[in-house]
Amino acid sequence: MPGTLEGPLKAFAGDLDKCVRCGFCRELCPVGDLYPWEANFPRGKVQLLRALARGSLRVSNYIVDRMYFCTTCGYCSKRCPSGVRTNEAFEAARAEFIGLGLRAPEGHLRVVESVLRLGNPFGEAEGDRERWMPPWLRAGRRSKVLYWAGCMASYRLEETAISTAKILNAAGLDFTTLGRAEGDCGSILIRTGYWREAERLARENTKKFEGLGIGTLVTSCPGCFRTFANDYPKLFGIDLERDLGLEILHSSQLFERLMREGRIIASGLDMKVTYHDPCHLGRHMGVYDPPRNVIRGAGAELVEHSKSRWLASCCGAGGGFRSAHGELSLRQAARRAGQLSDLAVNAIVTACPFCVVNLRRGIEVFGSDMPVYDLPAFLEGATSRAK
Ligand code: SF4
Ligand code: SF4
Repeated sequence: MPGTLEGPLKAFAGDLDKCVRCGFCRELCPVGDLYPWEANFPRGKVQLLRALARGSLRVSNYIVDRMYFCTTCGYCSKRCPSGVRTNEAFEAARAEFIGLGLRAPEGHLRVVESVLRLGNPFGEAEGDRERWMPPWLRAGRRSKVLYWAGCMASYRLEETAISTAKILNAAGLDFTTLGRAEGDCGSILIRTGYWREAERLARENTKKFEGLGIGTLVTSCPGCFRTFANDYPKLFGIDLERDLGLEILHSSQLFERLMREGRIIASGLDMKVTYHDPCHLGRHMGVYDPPRNVIRGAGAELVEHSKSRWLASCCGAGGGFRSAHGELSLRQAARRAGQLSDLAVNAIVTACPFCVVNLRRGIEVFGSDMPVYDLPAFLEGATSRAK
């Protein structure tokens, strides 16, 4: 790549040159029209990176800010007819800038510093991470399955972690957690460009998995799932499946399997619900059907929105956007919650604690009282009825 960029962005030089400026990627970008000028849309971002790569522009704070003005939802990549890996290039650009000695914008930096200092993005005490754990659940026990609750379910949406543990326990699964030793998976550091620090965390986490005798690692958060399954091998050469023989699953996949095997009995939910595809589970990891099968398996009727599966609008929380642009993130959450609550349904179900928290705030702003459930809490309701 000509110009001064020699870091992670170099691998995307060919992609940037493939852009034909058609603008298809602009259509459903959740952030572009919050401040609708070209540099906030994916097409504009690609042109900025192309100019940087060719040496006709120099890195500036303005360009850095544009690359961080993105939820990393992945819609633009899926929509691009030329196959430009847009959102991956934007993430690589962030890492390139940090590698050049620049800093992430203020809002993003706050969460990065919290992850580095305390092992979570919320400024919470490390010791409080296991606050959600029921007394019967022992952390760090040799087991077949490790349940990685993640920061959001541990500190902000405990119902997700508690319901998951109850479901796995009722299914007779031999599982454990890491409790207060869990820490952060590295997702936020990766999304915000702090790859060196993320790699250190990845190596520490790998050590935590060794010695537990586990065969399966299951996460509540699609961000943790993507980080373990995709980012660790791709960015750091740490392949947990190859190196430790670990099967990595999102909880929706495990629930689906346990239902199929008859180990989770759920029924009796006489409800109509719609499902919101989390970006990191759907577009990034291709997991669309398992959560839907769980919802139907619980006896609920599933009503699909036209903007679902790979076309699903983002909730506005990802990529550090919620921490950095709280008000704009809320506007997008209200927009998405409004789309979904226009359907004649009783509830919105999703499979990501981040989406739940943002959509709950969004639905309030939209002016509806429709409930928003994370899949584990929704499923736990159905298992209790089946008893
Ligand atoms: S859809 Fe692809 S080719 Fe079209 S403007 Fe966007 S990045 Fe460029
Ligand atoms: S990843 Fe999503 S938010 Fe970011 S530029 Fe692409 S469409 Fe917009």
